[in-house]
Formats: sequence, structure tokens, C-alpha cells
Amino acid sequence: MAKVELKGLKKYFGHVKAVDGIDLEIKDGEFLALLGPSGSGKTTLMRLFAGLERPSEGSILIDGGNVNDLPPRERGIAMVFQSYALYPHKTVFKNIAFPLTIEGLNKEDIKKKVEWAAGLLHIGHLLERMPSQISGGEKQRVAIARALVRTPKVLLMDEPLSNLDAKVRHMAREELKLFQRDIGVTTIYVTHDQAEAMGLGDRIAVMNDGRIRQIGAPEEIYNEPADAFVAGFVGIPPMNFIEQDNIIIGFRAEAFLPAELIKEKEVMSFRFRIERVENLGAYRLVYGRIGKNKIISNLSARLVLKEGVEHALCVRMEDVGAFGMGKGTKINR
Ligand code: ATP
Repeated sequence: MAKVELKGLKKYFGHVKAVDGIDLEIKDGEFLALLGPSGSGKTTLMRLFAGLERPSEGSILIDGGNVNDLPPRERGIAMVFQSYALYPHKTVFKNIAFPLTIEGLNKEDIKKKVEWAAGLLHIGHLLERMPSQISGGEKQRVAIARALVRTPKVLLMDEPLSNLDAKVRHMAREELKLFQRDIGVTTIYVTHDQAEAMGLGDRIAVMNDGRIRQIGAPEEIYNEPADAFVAGFVGIPPMNFIEQDNIIIGFRAEAFLPAELIKEKEVMSFRFRIERVENLGAYRLVYGRIGKNKIISNLSARLVLKEGVEHALCVRMEDVGAFGMGKGTKINR
């Protein structure tokens, strides 16, 4: 386990600013989710942590020591990537044991460590199989077990679940969180799937254009987005925005309430023209417009809603955020 710090970290590829000045402290044992759209610099940041890229500027510290000049193997970091890269001709046991075999560890210790990691990930019964004889979800666990046998100080994962189908992915997420808590390894997890980031991260760092736009607990990022980018990127469906004079106001799809049900005076009232209703079982996503602005609301399946008709809806003022026009920074009211 270890504390990881980034100080003024930059990585430029020619004129491309892949990582453009990041200061960050990741606590010992923390699960940090790095969330951002394609091209925001997530993978480059991971490669910098791992020592696969050299910073253009700034430093990376693990437990207070600068690791800029340390080669990957000496950083105490293990990585799991989207492609599990298992050796097809080695058994699961030999795949997991591989990093230890290279280190020249004796057979007895290798066996103990492989069995420990396999037990943690519930794959003890698969050790004699070949990779072609196990499922995608099991391969992913083998890859994680292989990353853990060297008892890394820091575990880096770059979209490790993206090859799995939705259901397995959900289960794998659950397991990942549990074993990470169990062993308390500091984990940095890259994803562009915000449900994954929200579900897994103790904190989420939202990246865009090589910078961290906001870092905080999942509920903080969701409820108190620092700017319009974070507000629009985090949340399914994304936050609704309406331009008003010199500001943008934003509110979440679930903030809408039918006007007749609201007793408070501190509300914003809207005429919402419904264009389409999508029934998702537990709730309905209702697409429409307020003035010219496209809006999505999440309304109870009990309400009577008619397409093509204007409905009176309200949003409580406490659920409304205001953002500046330029950089979209949050305006405190
Ligand atoms: P994705 O989610 O698509 O994997 P990402 O957030 O991981 O994206 P990066 O792969 O870190 O983004 O890329 C950040 C920026 O740096 C992009 O504009 C990318 O084109 C650029 N980039 C990354 N690696 C290199 C390289 N070796 N040479 C030049 N530009 C690069």
C-alpha cells in the first residue's frame, strides 16, 4: 500500500498536451477512478505512473519518494489492461505465477502466492485450465490475480472490464470493489464509463484536455459539479442546460416535479413540451423542449404524460446550478 502524489505533471507529444499540469494526491488504500472522454489523457497518465512514459515536466512520488527515474519493475506497481494478454499456451496457474517465476522465487513460495491470489478472486478451481477453457470474466480475474501476486504498492487498471458483457461486468465490478477493500491496495482505475466510476471510486477525478476538472467523492461530483463540463459529462442522462441571459442554468433529469405537487415557493417553473416518452420499467425518460432547449426528464411512471402537449413542471431552486458562459465554471448563488 502506498500514497501516490503527482506534482505539476505534464506530458507533451510534440504540440499535443496529453497531460497538461496535474497535481494530485491519492491516499494510501484509496480507490481512485479516473473518468474522462476519449483523448482526455487517462491512458497517458497511467503510462506515466507505470514508468512507460517519462514526464515532460513535474514529478511522481510514491510514499514520498520521487520515482521519475525508476524503471517500471522497480516502482512496485502492477497493471491490468483491457486486453488481458494471458499466455495462451500456459495454464492459469502458470499465467498467474509468471511474474514470480521471472523473479526467480522458489516453487513453494510461488505456489503459496498463486493460491492466495486465486483464492481472493475465486478462481482456485481453474488453475489447471488453459485460457481458452475459461470465460471472459474469468480471464479478467486471472489477469488481476497475476497483477497481485507481486503484492504491488499500487494497482493500475485501464478499462479492465470493457471486454465483458453488461451482466458479467456488473458482477465483476462488485467483486473488484470487495477484494480491493479486503487487501487495501491503492488503486487507480481508468474508465470512460461513469457508472463504473461512480460505483467503484472512493473518489473520482474527472479529466478533460489533459487536466483534472474536478476531484471528489462520487456524490459530490454528481451533486456539486464544479463546471458545466463535469455537469454534462457525469450522469445518465446528462444534466439539462438552459441558457438564460449571461448564465447557463443546469438541473438533473430527476429534479423535475409536476407543478401541482410542489408546495415550496422557491421553485423554477417551466412549460415542458413532451416529444417522446421512453418507458424503462422503473421510470420513464421523457424527452422534450423548454423553449428551444432540448430537455430530458425522469418522471414517475404514475404520471399521465401526453406526447405533443405542454406540461407544467417545476424544479426546486436547491436543485438548480448556475454556470458561467465562458469556461462554464460554477457560479455560487
Ligand atoms: P481513450 O479513452 O480513447 O483511451 P485517453 O483519455 O486514454 O483516451 P490518451 O490515450 O491518454 O487519452 O491520449 C491523450 C491525447 O494524447 C490524445 O490527443 C492522443 O491522441 C494523444 N497521444 C497519446 N499518445 C500519443 C503518442 N504516443 N504520440 C502522440 N500523441 C499521443
